Amino acid sequence: MEMNVDVLIAGSGVAGLYCALNLNSNLKVLIITKSKLTETNTYLAQGGISTARDEKDIPLFIEDTLKAGQYKNDRNSVQILAEESMNSIDHILTLGVVLDKIGEDLQFTKEGAHSINRIVHNKDTTGKALADALIEHVKTLKNVTIFEDTYLVDIIKDNNTCVGGIAIKENTQFNIKSKVLVLATGGIGGIFNNSTNQRLLTGDGIAIAIRNNIKLKDLNYIQFHPTALFDENIDNRRFLISEAVRGEGGKLINSKGERFIDELLPRDVVSNAINEEIKNSGIPNVWLDITFLDSEYIKKRFPNIYEECLIRGIDITKEPIPVSPAQHYFMGGIETDSTSKTSLENLYAAGEVSCTGVHGANRLASNSLLEGLVFSKRAADSINKNITNIEFHEIAIPKVSTDVEKLITENKELAIEEFKRRSKDLNDELFNHR
Ligand SMILES: Cc1cc2nc3c(=O)[nH]c(=O)nc-3n(C[C@H](O)[C@H](O)[C@H](O)COP(=O)(O)OP(=O)(O)OC[C@H]3O[C@@H](n4cnc5c(N)ncnc54)[C@H](O)[C@@H]3O)c2cc1C
Repeated sequence: MEMNVDVLIAGSGVAGLYCALNLNSNLKVLIITKSKLTETNTYLAQGGISTARDEKDIPLFIEDTLKAGQYKNDRNSVQILAEESMNSIDHILTLGVVLDKIGEDLQFTKEGAHSINRIVHNKDTTGKALADALIEHVKTLKNVTIFEDTYLVDIIKDNNTCVGGIAIKENTQFNIKSKVLVLATGGIGGIFNNSTNQRLLTGDGIAIAIRNNIKLKDLNYIQFHPTALFDENIDNRRFLISEAVRGEGGKLINSKGERFIDELLPRDVVSNAINEEIKNSGIPNVWLDITFLDSEYIKKRFPNIYEECLIRGIDITKEPIPVSPAQHYFMGGIETDSTSKTSLENLYAAGEVSCTGVHGANRLASNSLLEGLVFSKRAADSINKNITNIEFHEIAIPKVSTDVEKLITENKELAIEEFKRRSKDLNDELFNHR
């Protein structure tokens, strides 16, 4: 199969969808996604989207992001994130994203390492609210086609320019020539046994970058979320207990019923403290307690967490929740500039697969959806501006294997090897840990 499009977008999370929405309507756009449209980390997001409350809050939001990131962040990217946050929230509201309000005003909640309440949310299913609205909108766009179950194998290169992508759809090679390709393939949780991420996110974008010598950055910055629901029998992804639970006053306690850490410190600090407790006690989890909150409030504020825990036999209004850390987020990725351009001509990257440098060594809670919005729009703006000068390339496209399972395994292995090569802390134990 062959197809020519102006813009090929791989990924249907916040970054892929919002990029498509911001592209000029005269551009022919194709979104491909490895599985179903909603099988994304975006859909799983619980806590919310951070935003500066107003112009005066921008410096403090920047400082909170830098401090959580151990000042390893790219300051220019952080500034962009904070300055463009309010417009992003205003825009998604106009697209029909439903966010919780008090009266006419947005309700802002608090999460770890934020100095003030600045997280907008839809109960504890913010990602679903965001994704549903974006998907509904993208489906109305006449210039955008969506192919589900279509696996991007590799990009097509002509010298140092990206000229399209090779995909597998229904066991058939599908050559897509494009003027621009946007990688929005998300994170890497699927290469860890112990992760909160969708299992299908196995670092394909990173493997493609490695094979094509595209610049990667900060591969050693991998975030472990402190509070994934503990379940020793689980083979699938770990269910997350959102940081917003601690934001609402949830207390972390050890086997003696004692608090051992300020729950609202940055994620890396809290995860390390929990791991220390686990090591010292010999018990594989600690507990997160919110039983002191009104039970009706808990059910209303965290309906998804309440239901999911209840299914597993835990009534969070009556008993503390067993939790332990799990791989959650990848701060590093494909190096991009402030317009989401990669080191390869006409290849952009946005969302978790990219590294804008916004998060430094440790992401501040709820900054990921915001980064997806801000920097995928920047990609779209740059594409809108430059695409008239880009031509299709006539180039022979090689035949590739159509065995997707084999390709996924190869990509996984390639990514893991590169992670281990770049940092001795990223060892077999970490990837295989349950
Ligand atoms: C449980 C959980 C809760 C979270 N809560 C929050 C929160 O409250 N606030 C916040 O800011 N962040 C949160 N995050 C992080 C945030 O959800 C993600 O970082 C963000 O949604 C990533 O968006 P994305 O568009 O980059 O990728 P995703 O939403 O993960 O989408 C990736 C897409 O790429 C596609 N893809 C991958 N490989 C290929 C391939 N080879 N070919 C074709 N398509 C491919 C997938 O099919 C998918 O469509 C949470 C994450 C998890 C796991």
